Amino acid sequence: MAMRDLTVGEQTIRYDADATAAIYRGLGNGWAEDCGCVGCRNFLAQRSEIYPAAFRDLLLQLGIDPNKESEVVADGPMENGLHHYGGWFFFIGEMVSDSECLSIVREAPCFECSFARFGPCPKEFRDRPRLAVQFNAHFRWVLSDSWDSDLWPAAVRPPKVIDGHKSDPA
Ligand SMILES: [Zn+2]
Repeated sequence: MAMRDLTVGEQTIRYDADATAAIYRGLGNGWAEDCGCVGCRNFLAQRSEIYPAAFRDLLLQLGIDPNKESEVVADGPMENGLHHYGGWFFFIGEMVSDSECLSIVREAPCFECSFARFGPCPKEFRDRPRLAVQFNAHFRWVLSDSWDSDLWPAAVRPPKVIDGHKSDPA
């Protein structure tokens, strides 16, 4: 294994970019394509332009394909009109010195990241020493579908109230 050291903010890790890139080549796509929820579709609609350049460069350096996130979670709208997202990318590596601090990649709209020992780890990484790059970010809502349009499965969606009368669910 060709492990290299890397320090970002107050964290130092050791990583194997070749081993990580080999795993990513074998993955068909990212989490968002498989999930398909409205929050993931909003992410997918802007994924190619959503990451700060410094963050993309970090992923590429680690051997990570930026289009194959391990998981992404949309947490809904905030007071500033943007939507809070969290995400993880796993890679082959180990922690050398840890810190609780998130590194700020961009102030506005917010984009922070850090290395994490734990997270939603895909099976392809589970039998190796691995870490995650996790991010915490504010993204725009670009879909015409509303952010909460799929919170209720159609069968249990509350009936709409029209002119004071409840309509029958179609
Ligand atoms: Zn989703």
